[in-house]
Amino acid sequence: MATAGYDDNNIFAKILRGEIPSVRVYEDEHTVAFMDVMPQAPGHVLVIPRSGSRNLLDADPAVLSRTIPVVQKVANAVKEAFEADGVFIAQFNEPAAGQTVFHLHFHIIPRHEGVGLKPHSGQMEDGAVLKAHADKIRAALAET
Ligand code: AMP
Repeated sequence: MATAGYDDNNIFAKILRGEIPSVRVYEDEHTVAFMDVMPQAPGHVLVIPRSGSRNLLDADPAVLSRTIPVVQKVANAVKEAFEADGVFIAQFNEPAAGQTVFHLHFHIIPRHEGVGLKPHSGQMEDGAVLKAHADKIRAALAET
């Protein structure tokens, strides 16, 4: 079955244009990182390229090569900020694989031994909590 193309009315494209709010932890010329509003664990961040693609399958490899170093940088900061034992990186392609927002994004989720994950796209977190978590991640990023 053919897949649809990129639609710049998706929610992350609106976040990039500043049309809807986000709690950002990092941004540069090519990339933005912000808190997931329905975190699967405290400190759940999404990293997206500014350049639009539906997911990894149609992304320009040059975009991927600029995005992955940011995923690494933010993952290290999240691990430090939340004193995590590990970090889960997830990326879904198409609805059958669990994708719900059709602008390429990488999930960065801190993991602690013996602590389970909350459901994907589960409960909305309080904005003040997300801001407090973002402050911790920004502080860890500032140390690198
Ligand atoms: P995926 O299934 O990989 O497409 O996941 C999309 C993710 O985006 C989910 O984890 C949602 O909680 C998250 N999400 C949806 N809307 C927003 C938003 N406005 N700001 C931040 N995260 C969002």
